[in-house]
Amino acid sequence: MSVQVKLPAALRPFASGQESVALEGKTAGEVLDALFAKHEGLKKQLLTPEGKLRNFVNVFINEDDARNIKGLASPVKDGDTVLIVPAIAGGSTATEAGLSKEELARYHRHLIMPEVGPEGQKKLKNSSVLCVGAGGLGSPLALYLAAAGVGRLGIVDFDVVDHSNLQRQILHSTDSVGKPKLESAKARLNALNPNVEVVGYETKLTSANALELFKDYDVIADGTDNFPTRYLVNDACVLLGKPNAYGSIFRFEGQASVFSAKDGPCYRCLYPEPPPPGLVPSCAEGGVLGVLPGVIGTIQAIETIKLIAGLGKPLIGRLMLFDALAMEWRTLKIKKNPDCPICGKNPTIKQLIDYEAFCGLKEKPVSAIPEISVEDLKAKLDKKEKFVLLDVREPHEYELAKIPGSKLIPLGTLPEKFGELDKSQAIIVHCKMGGRSARAVQFLKSKGFDATNVAGGINAWSERIDPSVPQY
Ligand SMILES: [Zn+2]
Repeated sequence: MSVQVKLPAALRPFASGQESVALEGKTAGEVLDALFAKHEGLKKQLLTPEGKLRNFVNVFINEDDARNIKGLASPVKDGDTVLIVPAIAGGSTATEAGLSKEELARYHRHLIMPEVGPEGQKKLKNSSVLCVGAGGLGSPLALYLAAAGVGRLGIVDFDVVDHSNLQRQILHSTDSVGKPKLESAKARLNALNPNVEVVGYETKLTSANALELFKDYDVIADGTDNFPTRYLVNDACVLLGKPNAYGSIFRFEGQASVFSAKDGPCYRCLYPEPPPPGLVPSCAEGGVLGVLPGVIGTIQAIETIKLIAGLGKPLIGRLMLFDALAMEWRTLKIKKNPDCPICGKNPTIKQLIDYEAFCGLKEKPVSAIPEISVEDLKAKLDKKEKFVLLDVREPHEYELAKIPGSKLIPLGTLPEKFGELDKSQAIIVHCKMGGRSARAVQFLKSKGFDATNVAGGINAWSERIDPSVPQY
């Protein structure tokens, strides 16, 4: 018997790909120490140099947040699970119901349920929801909310439909590739339910426009895919007192909750700070199962409808975790943090801030990293110069496309395997687009290697040097 430590997908590469590790210890802290002793790479991700747990990491013992017990000193016993959760949204007549004949027919299955009925349907008709993003999460969200009869549906998006969106963004079709997402979203939603007023905002959500955009909506549904916008949505919701139906996805895993509701925690209560840039890969870099946003976006739609119609028990104060591979759901209890910088007793954030800077995206750690273009790399290879070409992608990506002569050491295993590299030789590092390899260069330089990053990664190589190398 021992304690099981469950690792989320984003951290598994730092623990040899393991999902769960059995360890011994009397407290949560002892169990984590045992984990770090086995996987040094993980320690650096989760602890500050002073040995404290980083702010974007939460530890749960079974269902309970360790912060609500005794923190890392919380006792654990055989059979317990320690979870690491990083940051990584009838029968009435028409006149009685205030609904047209067409609406009575359309919403029949709602109307015959006593919990919804004509009253609930009217609440939906009189309500307004703002979807931030018309992508993977925004697609099922907007489709179901329109189908359910939400009166006014706002959508904020300034993106254009790309072929690679169609695997999951079911609002858009092949015909829409190259067109603004708002245009195809509006057409699809109006075709589904002409009773719904669809309002498009073709703009990037910023600190300058968020409060103005949000103020006329009852519920905000966060379907964003990046940390700066996520914190912006959270803070704007808290400042305006609007509930935030939250969802996020990565590969095979998703999270959902309702934040910023009266007396409930906000996203910052759960994750006071974002992870450092690059630790949690984006879906464009790490991939996502196409159906996954369908599941999580649908949960957001259900929660939104519950909030509007006053149904059931909303997902306030609870974080739902979904693992599609294990086909497991977990619901963790989360509490309002009295010291939360925005919704706590003495808030320090009283207006919207610069979220790019807050998420560390303006520090540009990349600028200090030496880079080489794919053209210069080709010239070096042609001249048969002596250096190691290191590929830090995952093995399945290496199978899809590779530059001949490269050596594969995935980024997550580099802290364990860098000893295999020859310090007397220059190391030129590449990945898919240049992000992961920049982190590898930083790491190798800290270990005394002469390391250089290939700007644009293998995608640039495929575009500009060798089109026979497939892009993925
Ligand atoms: Zn808070």
